[in-house]
Amino acid sequence: MRVAIIGTGYVGLVSGTCIADFGHTVVCVDKDANKIEALKRGEIPIYEPGLQDLVRTNAGQGRLSFTTALQEAVRVADAVFIAVGTPSRRGDGHADLSYVYDAAREIANALDGYTVIITKSTVPVGTGDEVERIIQDARPDAKFAVVSNPEFLREGAAIHDFKHPDRIVVGTEDEQAKKLVAEIYRPLNLNHVPILYTTRRTAELIKYAANAFLATKITFINEIADLCEKAGADVQEVARGIGLDNRIGSKFLHAGPGFGGSCFPKDVRALVKTAQDYGVPIRILEAVAAVNDARKRSMARKVASAFGGVLRGKTVAVLGLTFKPNTDDMREAPALALITALQDMGARVRAFDPAGMRQAETLLNNVVYCENTYDCAEGADALVITTEWEQFRALDLERLHNLMACPVVVDLRNVYRPEEMHRHGFAYSCVGRPSATAHLAEDDFPLERVISMAKVRARAPTR
Ligand code: NAD
Repeated sequence: MRVAIIGTGYVGLVSGTCIADFGHTVVCVDKDANKIEALKRGEIPIYEPGLQDLVRTNAGQGRLSFTTALQEAVRVADAVFIAVGTPSRRGDGHADLSYVYDAAREIANALDGYTVIITKSTVPVGTGDEVERIIQDARPDAKFAVVSNPEFLREGAAIHDFKHPDRIVVGTEDEQAKKLVAEIYRPLNLNHVPILYTTRRTAELIKYAANAFLATKITFINEIADLCEKAGADVQEVARGIGLDNRIGSKFLHAGPGFGGSCFPKDVRALVKTAQDYGVPIRILEAVAAVNDARKRSMARKVASAFGGVLRGKTVAVLGLTFKPNTDDMREAPALALITALQDMGARVRAFDPAGMRQAETLLNNVVYCENTYDCAEGADALVITTEWEQFRALDLERLHNLMACPVVVDLRNVYRPEEMHRHGFAYSCVGRPSATAHLAEDDFPLERVISMAKVRARAPTR
């Protein structure tokens, strides 16, 4: 089968490459000529484990190619995926559908013979109807069907997720389109991946409901973590205690600095808006969005509390910038709000991330980017772990302690055990777990005292 993918970003490139790997002939289209030129040279514009090899293999075997010429790619295609961005619309939080509608217009002009247009972009309920109308208006003669096929892959594990999805959702009532989509995914069907056929509108809503539910789960455990801190309980044990209940499940119950990324924040906002437009506000999601936004910035206060609330003149080392490990994606990463808030409080910020620094440079000002973890920690008054990259999980704590001006670690991902950090002489705070000071009111036990105690312990000859 001949497939065109419109939009060669995180989703388009992964989808196109995996569909080529299934054996179909795929052309990935993007209007960004630099991106396409780089891909033609075998350079991958994003960081996604395993993608480079898969692109090279499929391109090498002639099943995968890249172009800016949308018309030519669409004209010969049996199926055309729309995988362009649907960011938040500036001002009101609705999904900005201008890229989808522009793509629909361009596709319409190029249609030749029966073609299935498959929306993989995350789009609000009813968008497929509008795409259909745009194409019909532009090309009343065209034979086509518009299908919703939302994507559930996670950045960082995108290839695995595309090839081993929990389910494939196909929204269409057109029998010919159903057969064609089934043929595209046939290799997965052979592995008994469930395909859920439903209406287009239902499929569109499934994607938003899934992301909103997961975002709600994260926000729920984050607020339970805040309560744990005050009440002297351990959120990780609470999460385990509830996650072992099959009705709840253990995933997405890791307390942290708030959710970020290219999907959850914008999709929650868009669903809130859609629901308001339909006159059925989803108040739980309005709360999720507000709580999460406030949380990201409030993490700076956690750092400041180590210095009696005053950060002016302090140097803070931030380890991890991307919204999660194994990606270079900085969209709405908690580190952005955290670093801005730290700077607003007068702190100097140094940062290191294994893949995100190139994107971060375009989004943040006055940050010193470092070569590696230890370079970042050198001379810092506090170190904040913001993203749980594998390489941050087994730091040389003694070396870290010696490098830092002040042994303060704020672990927003609960990577380390409080006892271990205290043993190494750190003033350590984390999220929702008892640590040296978490269960004590600040007045009772100022962190400055912990820090000076930690320094004294650190200087003791036992080391
Ligand atoms: P992205 O911004 O990485 O990529 C979009 C690409 O589309 C860009 O390269 C852009 O140049 C290109 N583009 C825009 N208009 C075009 C046009 N008319 N012709 C050709 N190319 C065009 O976006 P993404 O992260 O891949 O997300 C795409 C969609 O998939 C969004 O709706 C998103 O919500 C959804 N989604 C994303 C993820 C994820 O993890 N990133 C997961 C599931 C679903």
